[in-house]
Amino acid sequence: MRRISIFGATGSIGESTFDLIRRAGGAGAFHTVALTGARNVARLAEMARELRAEIAVTADPACLPDLRAALDGSGVKAAAGPDAIIGAADRPANWVMSAIVGAAGLAPGLRALEQGATLALANKESLVTAGPLLMATARAHGATVLPVDSEHSAVFQALTGEDIATVERIIITASGGPFRDWTAERLRDVTLAQAVAHPNWSMGQRISVDSASMFNKALEVIETREFFGIAPDRIEVLVHPQSIVHALVGFHDGAVMAHLGAPDMRHAIGYALNWPARRALPVERIDLARLATLSFEAPDEARFPALRLAREVMAAGGGTGAVFNAAKEVALDHFIAGSLPFPAMAEVVETVLARVSRQNGLGIAPRSLEEVLYIDAMARRVASAAINDRNS
Ligand code: NAD
Ligand code: MG
Repeated sequence: MRRISIFGATGSIGESTFDLIRRAGGAGAFHTVALTGARNVARLAEMARELRAEIAVTADPACLPDLRAALDGSGVKAAAGPDAIIGAADRPANWVMSAIVGAAGLAPGLRALEQGATLALANKESLVTAGPLLMATARAHGATVLPVDSEHSAVFQALTGEDIATVERIIITASGGPFRDWTAERLRDVTLAQAVAHPNWSMGQRISVDSASMFNKALEVIETREFFGIAPDRIEVLVHPQSIVHALVGFHDGAVMAHLGAPDMRHAIGYALNWPARRALPVERIDLARLATLSFEAPDEARFPALRLAREVMAAGGGTGAVFNAAKEVALDHFIAGSLPFPAMAEVVETVLARVSRQNGLGIAPRSLEEVLYIDAMARRVASAAINDRNS
């Protein structure tokens, strides 16, 4: 029986993963090692009971009594706190879903790779903050990283059987989010409710805001660079409001291979779950005649500066990705809390990048988790200070 774990089981990706596991036979077909979540312990316990997991872990120690109570009599162990989440990744598993949101997803993913697991990577922050470290850890332990981000899964599929040396360019698409046509002026008054109302995808709150600001696409450009090892100037972003074409790969004979599918993350998750096989999945089949039109346009980096910042991050290299992600996470926290206007998120990130660009050692890619966490913490302090300066 395949041993599986889901980190971030109670989130949007976690629920979709759970749905596919259940449809594929659940506890009768998989041995579930660990499920983790944060404060929604009732749901976490329900999932752990159904899959008969070895252990369920909440990120929040204050939630441990509730988790214990919810698991009473089930035989599922309960644990809490960030160290317990990392410890859960030490339990050997064959297939591990990395679907915690934010930089907190990095440490358990690295541990799972050290155990030789196949890591289905939804947590793009892992590659943005520590791409070289993550990929080197996988190589050193004979482990595999599979992309779960829809664009990267699409590229991965288009590259099957191809030689990466023949790739001229990789194009990832962006829906453009809810504010695609908004003027810079209107963007100043964007509310949280407007920002999370994504036109095509149903996702967690944080990635939904990132999609609206194009920070999600900025992270994904860096993710493309790190996952496929392709030069930054060969990566393009194309706005495609229908979210049917997820990515295109252009080869040096002029051919372009595109990946099309309904905007449902269960395709990319299911592809990673069944890889290298392709199995039937419960996703809607696209009907191009009914869709009639697929449209494409260039992204507007003046209204959405995140993409320009991603290019600057890739040019700077080293630990800059970890700075970028941490600054973005802090700015996002403030937008969600109502203490930062929507366009100010990019301004804060740009300020942080400028302030830390002269730091010693930032030009070298972090070689350990400790180095990544050190840069992450430093960038969070600078970001908080920059926001204080702005708001005082
Ligand atoms: P979500 O907010 O719905 O779920 C996040 C999960 O992580 C939850 O289980 C939550 O309890 C847990 N969590 C949150 N903070 C944590 C912490 N500090 N420590 C431990 N656990 C914590 O997020 P999501 O939309 O499912 O996204 C998860 C990851 O997948 C993100 O990295 C996101 O960028 C990526 N991703 C998501 C989608 C999507 O469609 N939702 C698509 C592509 C990539
Ligand atoms: Mg994506």
